[in-house]
Amino acid sequence: MQQTQTIDQIQTFDGKYPKQLWYLFFSEMWERFCFYGMRGMLTFFMVNHLFMEEKQANLQYGATQAFVYAFTFIGGLFADKILGFRKSLFWGGLLMITGSLILAYDPKEFFFLGLSFNIIGTGFFKPNISTMVGALYKEGDSRRDAGFSLFYSGINIGALLGGYACVAIGKGALLGSMVPEALRWNVAFGLAAVVMTISLITFVYTRSTLGPIGLSPFQTAEGKTEDGKQWYEYVVYIGALAAIPLIMMMVANTEYTDMFMYIIGPFSLLYLVYEMTRHSAAEAKKLAAALLFILFSVVFWAIFEQAGGSLSLFAANNLSDKMLGGALTLDPNGVNNAANSLFVILFAPLIGLLWVWMSGRKMEPNTVVKFGLGFLFLGIAFYAFYACRFFANEDGVASLDVFTIAYFIVTLGELCLSPIGLSIMTKLSPARLQGLMMGMWFLASAYGQYVAGLFGASIVSVATNPTPMDKLLSYTEGYKQFALYAIIAGVLLIVISPLVRKLMQEVK
Ligand code: GLN
Repeated sequence: MQQTQTIDQIQTFDGKYPKQLWYLFFSEMWERFCFYGMRGMLTFFMVNHLFMEEKQANLQYGATQAFVYAFTFIGGLFADKILGFRKSLFWGGLLMITGSLILAYDPKEFFFLGLSFNIIGTGFFKPNISTMVGALYKEGDSRRDAGFSLFYSGINIGALLGGYACVAIGKGALLGSMVPEALRWNVAFGLAAVVMTISLITFVYTRSTLGPIGLSPFQTAEGKTEDGKQWYEYVVYIGALAAIPLIMMMVANTEYTDMFMYIIGPFSLLYLVYEMTRHSAAEAKKLAAALLFILFSVVFWAIFEQAGGSLSLFAANNLSDKMLGGALTLDPNGVNNAANSLFVILFAPLIGLLWVWMSGRKMEPNTVVKFGLGFLFLGIAFYAFYACRFFANEDGVASLDVFTIAYFIVTLGELCLSPIGLSIMTKLSPARLQGLMMGMWFLASAYGQYVAGLFGASIVSVATNPTPMDKLLSYTEGYKQFALYAIIAGVLLIVISPLVRKLMQEVK
């Protein structure tokens, strides 16, 4: 591959965003279409076409999500040490296309096989594209957070389109007259494969603009792999394929998922401590700060990810389909799935620009405070979910308006934490550990998903034959509890922020 620009030329760009950001934006947008398209189909397909019990389907859905994010840790690790970000991304994309094609061919017969390809593929793709965004910026460039905010919009455009289109095609609500009923799910899974191919093509055609960014540690600046080192790559490829039967077994048996989660977290922490001892004290301090952000983010996702679990049941059981005093009729589950992405798309660029504007006036809050604000918004949002009970009729049917406002506030919290989290991982990690730390950031999401399931299960009504009103009271009581946890975490972060900033040193 011909290299047109040096890293310095890439990082010295005019304007708000480097042009390469747009290419990564589109690759990631289509990848998230595929990912959220798949995610949106899983539980429905398991219950209605594989005839699983709802409880079982929920557990298996949780296991898949936890695995997807857990593998980003492994994907990040191999990218740092062997493949580099570009090859990891390419390999991950190929695996995702293969997985979606397998599902398109026969989703019932090869369900777990296709899923496992997707899990491992996402692991190689997701953390590494985020790390490459970070590499577009010089240390200390205040435009970095805004860049991640924009990138985050791309994520959510993909999530919104894929999340809606795939399941709607599968169920026949979209293209129902064009696709014969027996083939609807094949087409829906096939769409994910097509879109993932677009993602990969976008990447392949634009990667030469990345100069040396994302080359493997074994590649020379001209992109040639050192003699004798190709074998390391082949071992990673073969190892990834060999892991697939293992992943299939673990996703199909959720007790193995529990075991996996108990092992991978402590292992990753030990590994990080080992890496810290191999770096200078200043670098180790930054890694300690990164770890703190990672640990807090587990709490954030555990509450936030009620969206896929308890909030979707809440939407199904306790919400009216009327909005704005009856001017709009919308499916509450549709709102539950789409409101967050839509708000991210609308507000991420504005918030990104707000940070740039504030930074120009030396008023921009530092990252620790932004994280703290993220938790405070999350807390307020969950108080708003709690408040739904005050807008309910005697049948336990609450207001979709209040629910949507709560999602708006959740999104503000997410925007103070999630894109900033991506950005700060790239600021606090030394070059050799960029992939690993991004992987750990997503590993926190894996634990978040895992704990979210436990949290969700803990607030289910204990009444025998619960009425909608019983369910409303028990879920909203739980949301009040989660709101308090979020507020405590937010206040704690803001209080310890001077200490964390010391660990971060010059990083803002
Ligand atoms: N919604 C974001 C994405 O898909 C963040 C997910 C996460 O880190 N849990 O990238």
